[in-house]
Amino acid sequence: MLPYKTLQEAEAFLGRNLTFPETIWLNYSANKSDYFLYCHNILFLFLIFSVVPLPLVFMELSRSSGLDKFKIQPKVRLSSADVFRCYKDVMSMFFFIVGPLQLVSYPSIKMIGIRTSLPLPSGWEILMQLAVYFMVEDFTNYWIHRFLHCKWGYEKIHRVHHEYTAPIGFAAPYAHWAEILILGIPSFLGPAMAPGHMITFWLWIALRQIEAIDTHSGYDFPWSPTKYIPFYGGADHHDYHHYVGGQSQSNFASVFTYCDYIYGTDKGYRYQKKLLAKVTFSAMYFLLEYDHGLSAALLGFLPCLILNI
Ligand SMILES: [Zn+2]
Ligand SMILES: [Zn+2]
Repeated sequence: MLPYKTLQEAEAFLGRNLTFPETIWLNYSANKSDYFLYCHNILFLFLIFSVVPLPLVFMELSRSSGLDKFKIQPKVRLSSADVFRCYKDVMSMFFFIVGPLQLVSYPSIKMIGIRTSLPLPSGWEILMQLAVYFMVEDFTNYWIHRFLHCKWGYEKIHRVHHEYTAPIGFAAPYAHWAEILILGIPSFLGPAMAPGHMITFWLWIALRQIEAIDTHSGYDFPWSPTKYIPFYGGADHHDYHHYVGGQSQSNFASVFTYCDYIYGTDKGYRYQKKLLAKVTFSAMYFLLEYDHGLSAALLGFLPCLILNI
């Protein structure tokens, strides 16, 4: 709860006029407890899990040929019943694990020093802290995910997340309850190392989940703005991990590609990409030289042949 209730008190405390965003924050949070503000994450997560994957679900169910060309595993099709079952399972995990975890984890947030007070952080500060959170999460998640692919970790816990060999947006948080608890650690470490404002923390929790939904979307859109984020893995990178399945020792990272590159766990993925590019190029050359008529049909067929989909 803020130590000042009125605009005048806040301005006297800061020794300057409040900016417009600070005035909004003061009006909204002055009479709310820090615990209540922290618990906003429950509502944000519910909305993100329920709403953000919806456009992807409509694409999946519409089976439009215009969008299908961006589907990474176009032959794998889920029915509306499959999609609803996934959402239902995610929601029961949300109400029994994710929500209660938020309710009881407040002391840790207080301990690391997430603040609700004024002044608000600058846009640059928020951006820098989010970059740190994503990098810390990516690195820690990489090693925990690798551990979950050992025989015990996979059979006891991680196989649930791999039930979807061709992931969909709703399947991003689809996992064993123990995995949900374990993967809370990488999400918490960044804010613990560089604690910031509650608004930054909200943004972090929201963006991390939106990123996970994007990574599990099953679609690789060439116009996606995420293509401009350096070393961003995206759907194509993580889809390969699900495609290979339980035996996968490839593409463990949750956000970026550099951990898999540095530790040599993306060799199969890169080999497949190289092979696909080579075969597609050879086919294009052959068809342009000798048979223009067959090009469209064969170019659509070759990636499926290589991916065996
Ligand atoms: Zn995995
Ligand atoms: Zn996954």
